[in-house]
Amino acid sequence: MYSLHICRLLCAFHSNSSTHANLPRNMIENSMFEEEPDVVDLAKDSTAFPTFPALDPDEVAYEPRSSRLLVRGLGENDMDEDEEDCESSARLLGMSFMNRSSAHRSSSSPYTRQAPPRSCSRPSARTMVVCVLFLVIVASMTMVLKTTFTLITIHPISYDLTLNPNLDDMTFTGQTVINMTVLHNTKRIVLHGANLNITKATFKLGDGEVKDVTVLEYKPRQQLAVKFSEELKAGQYCVLTLDYSATLSHTYDGFYNSSYTDKDGNRRVLAATQFEPLYARKAFPCFDEPSFKATFLIKISRKQDYMTLSNMPKAKSTLLPNGLVQDEFERTSVKMSTYLVAFIVSNFTPISKNVSNTLVSVYSVPEKKEHTDYALDTASKLLEFYNSFFEIEYPLKKLDLVAIPDFLAGAMENWGLITFRETTLLVGKESSPLEKQVVASVIAHELAHQWFGNLVTMSWWNDLWLNEGFATYMQYMSLQTVLPQLDTGNLFLSVRFRAMDKDALNSSHSVSTEVNTPEQVEEMFDSVSYEKGASILLMLNTSLPGDQQFRKGIIEYLKEFSGANTDTDDLWNSLTKVSTHHQNVSEMMNSWTSQKGFPLVTVSRNGDEVNLTQEHFLLTSENATHASSLWNIPVTYVNDSCSLAPECRQVFNLKTKSGTLKVPKSVKWLKLNYRNTGFYIVHYGNEGWAALIDALSKNVSVLTHEDRASLIHNIFALSRFGRVSFQQVLNVLEYMPSETESAPVTEALLQLNRIYRLLDKRQESGLVARMRSYILMHFGSLMKSQTWGEEKSVSKQELRSSLLGMACSMKEENCTQQAKSLFKQYVDSNETFRIPGDLQHVVFSVAAQSDKDWTTLHSMYERVAYDAEKRKILQALASTEDTRRLVWVLKAGLEGDIIQTQDLPLIISTVCNGFAGYLFAWDFIQENWDRLIEKFPVGSFAIQTIIKSATSQFSTQAHLNQVQAFFSSLKERGSQMRSVQEALETIRLNQRWMDENLPTLRKRL
Ligand SMILES: [Zn+2]
Repeated sequence: MYSLHICRLLCAFHSNSSTHANLPRNMIENSMFEEEPDVVDLAKDSTAFPTFPALDPDEVAYEPRSSRLLVRGLGENDMDEDEEDCESSARLLGMSFMNRSSAHRSSSSPYTRQAPPRSCSRPSARTMVVCVLFLVIVASMTMVLKTTFTLITIHPISYDLTLNPNLDDMTFTGQTVINMTVLHNTKRIVLHGANLNITKATFKLGDGEVKDVTVLEYKPRQQLAVKFSEELKAGQYCVLTLDYSATLSHTYDGFYNSSYTDKDGNRRVLAATQFEPLYARKAFPCFDEPSFKATFLIKISRKQDYMTLSNMPKAKSTLLPNGLVQDEFERTSVKMSTYLVAFIVSNFTPISKNVSNTLVSVYSVPEKKEHTDYALDTASKLLEFYNSFFEIEYPLKKLDLVAIPDFLAGAMENWGLITFRETTLLVGKESSPLEKQVVASVIAHELAHQWFGNLVTMSWWNDLWLNEGFATYMQYMSLQTVLPQLDTGNLFLSVRFRAMDKDALNSSHSVSTEVNTPEQVEEMFDSVSYEKGASILLMLNTSLPGDQQFRKGIIEYLKEFSGANTDTDDLWNSLTKVSTHHQNVSEMMNSWTSQKGFPLVTVSRNGDEVNLTQEHFLLTSENATHASSLWNIPVTYVNDSCSLAPECRQVFNLKTKSGTLKVPKSVKWLKLNYRNTGFYIVHYGNEGWAALIDALSKNVSVLTHEDRASLIHNIFALSRFGRVSFQQVLNVLEYMPSETESAPVTEALLQLNRIYRLLDKRQESGLVARMRSYILMHFGSLMKSQTWGEEKSVSKQELRSSLLGMACSMKEENCTQQAKSLFKQYVDSNETFRIPGDLQHVVFSVAAQSDKDWTTLHSMYERVAYDAEKRKILQALASTEDTRRLVWVLKAGLEGDIIQTQDLPLIISTVCNGFAGYLFAWDFIQENWDRLIEKFPVGSFAIQTIIKSATSQFSTQAHLNQVQAFFSSLKERGSQMRSVQEALETIRLNQRWMDENLPTLRKRL
């Protein structure tokens, strides 16, 4: 899945997938369960969540529901209580994988905290009890951790799905035939199903007769079960057939309905799917966990003027007696996890092209067909690249890329049928390279998933990073080769900085981390899994000898585990296997995946000796340190005699608390973390910083632009950490007037803007004015020298959109005048005059400040068809300081008629940037919380974005109390979210930073 967070200075564009994690609503009445009162009672008791405050995630017991219920509900087992729970947990639905990985980690990694000694009543995603204790015993008995696989009693082999959607009344009926094999004797089959009304169920064992069976349901865990009086025996085959009816989801997950208004003003409806992570079960009964791979044969009926798509090519179409057409797709030629199944019923049109043995097509609504060329061309190039890079051909005969009009995630990698937002797939002829960069990045990410994720899949969501970190890394790596003109290097650099900002908080988590509840699964889709995952892969790749070793290891991994499931260690083992220098990759990388956070490396020099020490860069308001955390850091460094070319780079492996390296006495300065390819922050001490500042003041080109940006990022981080004064930050920024490169300028502006906004929200108007003049003094001449015409270079576009965005948002006269005049030309020319794509956001946002132009933009919003432009207009509408209008925008975003609800997180983050709206937005969120979590599931990236936007600019005790009171009142409606802890930590840190630095700001700015 792709979560778009392209944080260019003033444009926070956030999105991610899917909706609704909470428990099912309209469910089957099941007499079996009603007869067992203790089941129901237990369910109620166990929904008690611990209440706030719970700030330190290390101390938080995520303990949602006990899940003994199902086992009891299914009854008649002779085992004693604990044994019963443990046994079932391991048997049913593969929660064993989680246990396998935690058992595995605690036995192999020195970095992991010990698993709790007794966790039989630990919660599990939407399934079974987790019993670490039991599995540790199993593991130690067998000494082969993989034996826990054998505890699964039933495994699906194939599914035959028949779906009959009715787009008139938004319902569907379905039949699911599951062929299964019995792995261990058992008396029950447990699978997932949510909001499905089972109308008929039959079962056939081996060659026996087809018999009717009763399906039990346990709603809180979204589970269905069939129990038998006689044991099913290992080795037997069986077939379960379930007929059911359901309504098409009105949120963004499961089999959901979407609609758009066509060019004639008619509302057109369609139905599409979004199953990752836990929503296939809303469309059909299934074993809905990534390790239960099977093949799928899918049939869908439709009206004659519609078309359907699924993972595989269409095999045939049959006219049904009721006048509908049933399309049947080929059985999948590969085994797939359920979250990768997809189907669409719509009136879309394609353009296509053959690439080696694959037919690549891009689908859109008919009127946007002319916007699909770029995607087809880019996807084709990338497919060729990946085919040869991975040395494994893409295994399917076709690959469809489909733009869905209302879609919450950035994109979703369903095998053979990748779904996108319109913004992330469609590009107008006149689109700017920056817009193309977005589209190409998302396509590159989703295509990489066809190998990383689809072909080889993480066993459980705790290792989501194996999917997402990899796809994110590959997206940048492939584009640097395939489309170097898109210059994605700066983008990758800035996402690494942002990943560090988040990972520095105590509320962060390790890359590979235990997840049990649906909310926790949702929360894994965050910058740690994506961007930190990608960052540590970059660090690994650049620290391995030879440029092909990383690739060789990846190929080895993909080949060895093709079609299977893996955990993090499998990847490291493959990379270790191909190591030419007998380098133990697991040993190094475990320190980066099994503990949260990252190190601060402090340099102190004495003549030719350079002493390096490491500590956890943990931002806490209490200044606590985690003395025990150690990382295996491939520290890179350059010095004044050779600092630019890759050959200048030297490496020192810092595995212990401190280490010493030698440099010639003549070396004037050292810059560590060459081009910021490592995931750590460096403090050079007063002398080290002074030497670097001195060097930069003489010649900015002594360091690469990535290194300059990294100095800027690090000094701000150190100030937040409390290690340097803000004066030190200002000292580093002294060289800025001679800086002209995008990466350092953008980073400096982003950091200064953060402080500017904090001061603004505290109504420190004197300091705001001084900060404004400080920024204009240091960046003013560069701002003035920016052009407003068409610009081809991506990095120049990045540079000017951040400079002009900042200038205009501070109401710098020259900037706002230019923007106004461009908008006037645009309106006067009847919108034929073109505003360069990278400046539209700036121009529209200035226009939105005037009464008349806001109205003009409002009518443009309803008229403009091109999604990327529409979003920029929307951001402008939300940047107004007219509170009446802000309220309208927020409400319209929630209603979803004029503004699609998929854009609400963007609206909220834009409104929160401005002074006029940030308190409104906070009130809005509190008032509408229940509607928000109905649209966006608790823990989802959308909710994470909303919470962060609304709270990250608070810096007072009063706001801290408010935020704390609100979220703790939510209980199971969100109080346990990691993003809530993150919000509270951030407010405390803001508060501390202000207390410590306001005097300096008053004196020095
Ligand atoms: Zn992804």
